[in-house]
Amino acid sequence: MSGRLTVVGLGPGDARWLTPEAEAALAHADALFGYAPYVDRVPARPGLTRYSSDNREEMTRARAALELAAGGRNVALVSGGDPGVFAMAAALCEAIERGPEAWRALDVAFVPGITAMLAVAARVGAPLGHDFCALSLSDNLKSWDVIERRLDAAAGAGFVLALYNPVSRARPWQLGKAFERLRRHLPAATPVVFGRAVGRTDERVTLATLAEADAVEADMATLIIVGSAATRLIARPGLPPLVYTPRAASETPV
Ligand code: SAH
Repeated sequence: MSGRLTVVGLGPGDARWLTPEAEAALAHADALFGYAPYVDRVPARPGLTRYSSDNREEMTRARAALELAAGGRNVALVSGGDPGVFAMAAALCEAIERGPEAWRALDVAFVPGITAMLAVAARVGAPLGHDFCALSLSDNLKSWDVIERRLDAAAGAGFVLALYNPVSRARPWQLGKAFERLRRHLPAATPVVFGRAVGRTDERVTLATLAEADAVEADMATLIIVGSAATRLIARPGLPPLVYTPRAASETPV
């Protein structure tokens, strides 16, 4: 008997950002897998077994979830934000690709969530109003050399950048290096948004220019948006400025 495995995006933290589809998937699950802080966001109830694990154990977690689903359980595998953005959906696909043939026949579904860059952008205006790209600064799964090449290419081509995983205890210097790299391509006044723990009680959103952007502002729960040369601020009396990127690209190369 085969069960079901649903990969569920929980959004950035605010319960109002959990979609009705995600809520329904969680209500129907009898087993819940995920990184402990995400599993903790799902209320306990009779009939739901919770399996929390460390954030570096994605493949082990994906395999354990697949095994239970293959045994007939209705499993939810949760991620913060969207599960397809630097999260469990791709880890699950890797596990299926490398795993036993039977896993390919399983009923697998993916439920999207609001990803951090959209939540942070919504706090300040429309910084992602024109072309943008998302990069993880973590060099756990790719080399720092690849990250620098991608920063050069993206900033050089005029994309606004959303930087995920900017720092961790094991990766203290990467964000400072990334800012240095970006200063080669972008004007000093380029707006930089630091969005920390957005949608949670300890949320903090701050603005800087690229010239003054300081890596100490960021921690593991921070998403950073670095504007393009076209991104600008609209000053407002008694209100924080709006940060936005106009919908039309300027013809001036950046
Ligand atoms: N799947 C998640 C991203 C996982 S990678 C998503 O779609 O949002 C983890 C990184 O996401 C963190 O280092 C941080 O850069 C960002 N992040 C996750 N939740 C956040 C939040 N509430 N506020 C700001 N950034 C967040």
